Amino acid sequence: MAKNTTNTEPGSTALYSSGFFNPVTEQCEGCDRIIEVESAKYCKSYAIPEAKWKLGICNFATHVKPEIKVVTVKINPLKASKRG
Ligand code: SF4
Repeated sequence: MAKNTTNTEPGSTALYSSGFFNPVTEQCEGCDRIIEVESAKYCKSYAIPEAKWKLGICNFATHVKPEIKVVTVKINPLKASKRG
């Protein structure tokens, strides 16, 4: 029986250059999940990194965090005391 010469084991780098994985995008630069295979950079978590940035920040990105805006609302103490 002939053996498959392409190693597609999860830990293998051959999987990344097999054509299934797309290279990372500009927004991915600096992320710890980037793996370099044959001078091309791929994401360890996603096959299509570009798709992760289409709707905002990639939720697995290690180099950027979403900004959380804290809004302080002033409540009139007189009105607040009348609330149930
Ligand atoms: S986890 Fe997200 S930001 Fe990091 S390399 Fe992958 S797609 Fe890019």
